[in-house]
Amino acid sequence: MIVLGIETTAHTFGASVLRDRDVLSNVWDSYSHPERGMIPAEVAQHHIDVCDVVIKNSLEKAGISAKNIGLVSFSQGPGIGNCLRVGATAARAFALHHKIPIIGVNHCIAHLEIGRLVAPGCIDPVLLYASGANTQVIAYDSGKYRVFGETLDMGVGNFLDQVGRLLGLGFPAGPKIEEYARLGKRYIQLPYVVKGMDTSYGGMYTKIRNMVADGVSEEEKADICYSMQETVFAMLVEVSERALAHVGKKELLLGGGVACNKRLQEMCTIMCKERGAASFALPNQFNVDNAAMIAWLGKVMYESGVRMTIPETAIRPYERTDDVEVVWRS
Ligand code: AMP
Ligand code: MG
Repeated sequence: MIVLGIETTAHTFGASVLRDRDVLSNVWDSYSHPERGMIPAEVAQHHIDVCDVVIKNSLEKAGISAKNIGLVSFSQGPGIGNCLRVGATAARAFALHHKIPIIGVNHCIAHLEIGRLVAPGCIDPVLLYASGANTQVIAYDSGKYRVFGETLDMGVGNFLDQVGRLLGLGFPAGPKIEEYARLGKRYIQLPYVVKGMDTSYGGMYTKIRNMVADGVSEEEKADICYSMQETVFAMLVEVSERALAHVGKKELLLGGGVACNKRLQEMCTIMCKERGAASFALPNQFNVDNAAMIAWLGKVMYESGVRMTIPETAIRPYERTDDVEVVWRS
């Protein structure tokens, strides 16, 4: 079966063509800004502007004609309503025009399922999902992906981006923070907030904002980025380790844009090694918001018997990971 996947939960309009278990193309165009973050209507306009070109590129790169697509799959939620609506509309138009089935999928679960597709040996992982808006520790149990821990305020990526804005690093700031962190020499104590299995970043943001209120040198920027990475990643590794211990699983999978970070990957590898577990980091194209994971989850759901009518493809901006019945694993 050949599937077209469409991703539009936030900053990225992505399109991917998947044949059976092969990702034939995975292309995207992401909104960015030199000074500030996302304004929903502006990001949605970006997606409207690029959607036809990105879908066309995806088909061309895959060497597949639109009429050979057998299923269209799109991210139904959670995400920014304005942005989700663009992807859902494009997917519906494609499905109706070509008279093919359509499936809406949960974006967070797609981050986990793509790991099970592309990482050999990753079968039943705990997912540390660290992205812009979402920060969750997720694992499968009794018919659902359960959330064992999550952020109590902002997603870790949004936190990094907000600090990046204070430091004048543009949006998204994660990759620049990683570069600066490598130059850091001095560890600055920052609020380490783990409550049970949950994490929180607001206190750290306030402390850094106060520190840089009167300006910041390049050296200080490096020390802040280094200290911030060490602290937030330690928090994430702590709750991930506890999840592994509680649910008795032996695999940790990293997902989400923040999972591109090499230091986070390294810290997870060390923790897993110490407890005899395996740590899986994916190629960056599958960490960031991408349509390949949407195509793959759509296919898995369709093959397990899931069907959707057009009214059922209404967007679900607030859908939670554990709202979804995981019929394909039971
Ligand atoms: P997502 O929402 O999953 O697409 O992830 C986007 C988030 O990942 C943004 O907040 C980025 O700043 C963050 N990000 C991307 N690359 C990195 C990196 N190398 N280190 C830390 N954060 C990153
Ligand atoms: Mg994501």
